Amino acid sequence: MENIFGKDLSQITDMVTGWGLPKFRGKQLAEWLYKKSAISFQDMQNLPKAMRQRLEAECTIDRAASVAKLESGDGKTTKLLLSFSDGVAVETVLMRQPYGNSICVSSQAGCNMGCAFCASTLHGMVRNLTVGEMLAQTYYINDLLKEQGEKVDTIVIMGSGEPLTNYDNVLRYIRLLHEDYSLGMSYRSITLSTSGIVPNIYRLADEGIPVNLSISLHAPENELRSELMPINRKYPMADVIKAGKAYGDITHRRVTYEYILIDGVNDNLKQAQELVQLLKGQLASVNLIPINPVAEKDWRRPSLARIEFFENYLLEHHITATVRREMGNDIQAACGQLRNKYISKS
Ligand code: SF4
Repeated sequence: MENIFGKDLSQITDMVTGWGLPKFRGKQLAEWLYKKSAISFQDMQNLPKAMRQRLEAECTIDRAASVAKLESGDGKTTKLLLSFSDGVAVETVLMRQPYGNSICVSSQAGCNMGCAFCASTLHGMVRNLTVGEMLAQTYYINDLLKEQGEKVDTIVIMGSGEPLTNYDNVLRYIRLLHEDYSLGMSYRSITLSTSGIVPNIYRLADEGIPVNLSISLHAPENELRSELMPINRKYPMADVIKAGKAYGDITHRRVTYEYILIDGVNDNLKQAQELVQLLKGQLASVNLIPINPVAEKDWRRPSLARIEFFENYLLEHHITATVRREMGNDIQAACGQLRNKYISKS
C-alpha cells in the first residue's frame, strides 16, 4: 500500500496516468485530498468507481491521530501530540493570535541539534518527517478550525526539528501549502525557523519563494552561543548573520532573529550592545523570548524590568524588537515538553 497524502499534483498525475487514466483525474484526486480534505476514497464521488476501487486496493491516505491534547486556561493555545502510521508522535500547536490562527509545525521527530534550552533535543532525533506528515499536522488543525468556520492563517515551522536539515521534504511541504488545489497559502504567511544551517539559508534564498526566515541567535558572541547552541561550532555566528543578511537582500523579507532571554546568562547591557553592533543596518528584527522554564534545566526568566530594559536598549538603537506574547505557559508550550512526558510514560 502506498500513502498518497503528501504527493503533489505532478506525482499524483503520474500515478493515475500510469494507470491509463486521463490527466484530469489527477487534478480531481488532488482536490479531494487537499481542498476537500477527504479521508476516504469512497467519498470521492466524481471519480469513476473502478478508480476508487483501485485507490482503495493500492493506496492509503495517512493522516495524523491525536494522542494527547492540552488547552490553555485562556483557550487561546491548543497543544497536540499527533502520531503517524508508525507510532512516532510530534507536537503541533495552535495559537489563536490577534492576527489569526497560527500553527507551529514540527519538521522532525525529536531533534539532534542539542540546543541547551530545548526539551525537543533531550532524546535526540528519531527521524525526519515526510511531506505528508507535516501536511497531516496542518490538516488536523485546519479541520478542527473548519468546524468553527475558521482556518489556519499562518504557519511557523518552529516545532521540533531543524527544518533546514530536512530540506527537500520541508520545501515540498511549503510548495504544496501554496498550491491552489491545496490550501492556497501565501508564502508570506509561512515562516521557517532555523538554528543557522548556513549553506541551506543561501539555498532557500535562491528558491524564489518569499517565506519568512527566522534565525535562532540567542547570544551575541560565539563562546556563549556555542554553549547554548552547539551548531555554532560548525556554523559560527558571523557566517549565520552574513547568511541572514543575504536572505534579506535577495528575498526583501525582514529576517527575524530569535533571542531567548535567560536570567543572568544573556540579558546584560554588554550583550545588548553587542547585539546592536551585529544587526546594525540589516533588514532584521529581534524577537525576545523570555525563557519558558524547562523542567530538566535550571534557568529562570529575567524580571519584567530586565526584559523591558533589554528591549528598550535595542529600540533606542534602531533595532526593531518585540517581546513574544506569552502563550500557553500553563500547558507547557515550550517545544518538546509534552512529547517528553509521553516518551517518559511509555
Ligand atoms: S531549538 Fe530547534 S534546533 Fe534547537 S534543539 Fe530545539 S528543535 Fe532542535
